[in-house]
Amino acid sequence: MAASIAERASGREVYERLRRSLRPRSDEYVVLVAAEKDGNPYAVLAAIILSQNTSDKNSIRAYLRLRERLGRVTPEKVLELPEEELVELIRPAGLPRGKARALREAAKRILEKGGERYLVEAPPEELRRFLLSIPGVGKKTADVFLSFYRKAPVFAVDTHALRIAKRWGLVGEKAGYDEASKALLEFFGPELAEEAHRLIIALGRRYCRARSPRCTECPLRDICPYAEKQQEQAGTATRDAAKA
Ligand code: SF4
Repeated sequence: MAASIAERASGREVYERLRRSLRPRSDEYVVLVAAEKDGNPYAVLAAIILSQNTSDKNSIRAYLRLRERLGRVTPEKVLELPEEELVELIRPAGLPRGKARALREAAKRILEKGGERYLVEAPPEELRRFLLSIPGVGKKTADVFLSFYRKAPVFAVDTHALRIAKRWGLVGEKAGYDEASKALLEFFGPELAEEAHRLIIALGRRYCRARSPRCTECPLRDICPYAEKQQEQAGTATRDAAKA
């Protein structure tokens, strides 16, 4: 495998650098907005469902519309809403029908388990299986919840985290969710995993974009294997041009 960032810095060093330079604000993340405004576990899960395949800006808008209508985002109140109204309220988050179905299914199944206490008390592995059994809830949604709300030792992987784990050389090019999740958890350690997940999203948005990453301005440029490779390629191209 190509060089790994782990040979040049510890997970804590990378975490500290990212924290110092990115300084993400709590109102940039829907999960933090839900935790701050409501704080109950279903509200946090609902916020994570709304954030699937869209920006935090859009999911925050949808979450606040829902909250304004309901007063508080609870399973009982979501189930009282007519389905069409729920779809309209969360439309800013995109894919409103699928997300409304996931919100309702999650609410129903949580109430069948005795209410929101189940999300707080169920052992993390059992809870992961439960969350994954809800239509519209995948590994990332389940792991963000487990990591954020239950402080479970898991690393949630979104498209930013998968791309960055590859560029850092923590996993190979063909790695998928499970491999990247394991490697990032090992690199940062369980106590930093949850915050590191958010820092990686901020890094992916501001510097490590899918196309044209801004390596020359990135706070990790001196330790990132991908940036080094880019520099080598640029150097070879300059030398070839000089010889021609
Ligand atoms: S140096 Fe470039 S590839 Fe590495 S983390 Fe920063 S933006 Fe991404």
